[in-house]
Amino acid sequence: MERLPTVFISHGSPMHALDRGAAAHAWEQLGQALPPPKAVLVMSAHWETRQPMLTGAEKPETIHDFSGFPEALYRIQYPAPGDAGLAQRARKLLADAGFGATIDNTRGLDHGAWSPLLHMYPQANVPVVQLSVQPALDARHHYELGRALAPLAGEGVLLLGSGHMTHNLRDWMLNMHQPQPVAYAIEFQSWVGQRIKLHEHEALLDYRNQAPHALRAHPTDEHFLPLFFALGAAGQNAQPQRIYDGIDGGVLAMDAWVFGAG
Ligand code: ZN
Repeated sequence: MERLPTVFISHGSPMHALDRGAAAHAWEQLGQALPPPKAVLVMSAHWETRQPMLTGAEKPETIHDFSGFPEALYRIQYPAPGDAGLAQRARKLLADAGFGATIDNTRGLDHGAWSPLLHMYPQANVPVVQLSVQPALDARHHYELGRALAPLAGEGVLLLGSGHMTHNLRDWMLNMHQPQPVAYAIEFQSWVGQRIKLHEHEALLDYRNQAPHALRAHPTDEHFLPLFFALGAAGQNAQPQRIYDGIDGGVLAMDAWVFGAG
């Protein structure tokens, strides 16, 4: 079976689920361009746990994990089936790599998962398993989770990291009414993009020390960690391709990357 690329998406505000703007269009095009996956395993920044956890529900509910948004957003349902067998397979691969992962049979899909997926796979006919982030652990931990699950990409599973290229919500609130791109967001985005293109994964893993404005781009880094999951799953030699690079509100870089498409 053809090995699937891995993907990193900046999911943006939940409004991207309703808004068929440029980012959503890029996700839709991506869903059509990729070989059809048997299932999606998505690490979302919005499920934070101490140890890796996987969803095992056969019919994961659509979680509306946000407040203060228009009513229409709360009516969205993304009824993709779960895949308990894939959750078990992923747990086994993680255990073989030394990670004690557990399966949560009640947890549904949060907007970090369903907001991009409803544009990529609007018929909700591709089974989805979600994987949590461990914000107390570092970039390398998430890279290693990706490495452990990399065999799934050869079994028809799309490994997707859903987070953000830059994610400073305070700056976003301050800047949203004059949304010209702010220099630090562009500089951080550009540094990361260069490292990705040059396959410099060790520098990326040390981004907290090496990247310009790392702390401002990610005051906390739960939204950046899914990038390392996608990178680790792809491996150092995978061909990177950036398919979207808009900046929302001047400070939220919305990069989407595909690794291994060649
Ligand atoms: Zn988010």
